[in-house]
Amino acid sequence: MAHARLRGVVALDGPSGTGKSTVSRKLASALGAAYLDTGAMYRAATLAVLHADVEPSDPDAVARVVRAARLSVGTDPERPAIFLDGSDVGREIRGPEVTGAVSAVSAVAAVRDQLVAQQRELVNEALLAPGGVIVEGRDIGTVVVPDAGLKVYLTASAHARAHRRTAQDVSEGRAGDLDRTHADVQRRDALDSGREVSPLRKADDALELDTTDLDVVAVLEQLHKHVESRGLLVAAERTTP
Ligand code: C5P
Repeated sequence: MAHARLRGVVALDGPSGTGKSTVSRKLASALGAAYLDTGAMYRAATLAVLHADVEPSDPDAVARVVRAARLSVGTDPERPAIFLDGSDVGREIRGPEVTGAVSAVSAVAAVRDQLVAQQRELVNEALLAPGGVIVEGRDIGTVVVPDAGLKVYLTASAHARAHRRTAQDVSEGRAGDLDRTHADVQRRDALDSGREVSPLRKADDALELDTTDLDVVAVLEQLHKHVESRGLLVAAERTTP
């Protein structure tokens, strides 16, 4: 049976809680594409810093720890995987300690240089296989893959984003605290948008999609429409029944 498969790169950027991860993974699965979660890489780098007992606000020490860390990340949307020095850290990187420190670590220029280089390698590797790649983060359309075939910048009100993050925490077995999450979302927005190196911002040629009042299905419909209108779909034979 013929179905449509992605070709090239879709860059999905935006602040925390806009639904980026959920829709990126689902879109990648639906289109036979790889999926790269760059936020997970910054989180794993942050975990390395915390394990080393280094102050996240000390850029030289942070850069040294991250340079020595072995980060590896999977790009299968059905089985997202992130390893630090050989250990699966998929759960640990979502905890409050990492969430509290990740914006400081990801503001360090040397950390960004290192992770952006690794992300570009992963994108190029993914493009060697059939199906494109969906990459999500904060600087994908502006820095990591500035020539992506489609760039989308997701937004949503801080209130909606805090609600989604809290629901996600609860569904993954962590404590859900709406007020704390709301404050954290706003704090990270300010740090991620205000940093000197690769601040969070919409690429000039990105489409903006406000997801405040949209559910996942509606966001996926919109993304699918844009992928199609950019000519990024190719017919492919299904290999599995
Ligand atoms: O997407 P997620 O919320 O997991 O990202 C965690 C943090 O990683 C962000 O708040 C941001 O500080 C950093 N990040 C980044 N650049 C990216 C992806 C994430 O600076 N491309």
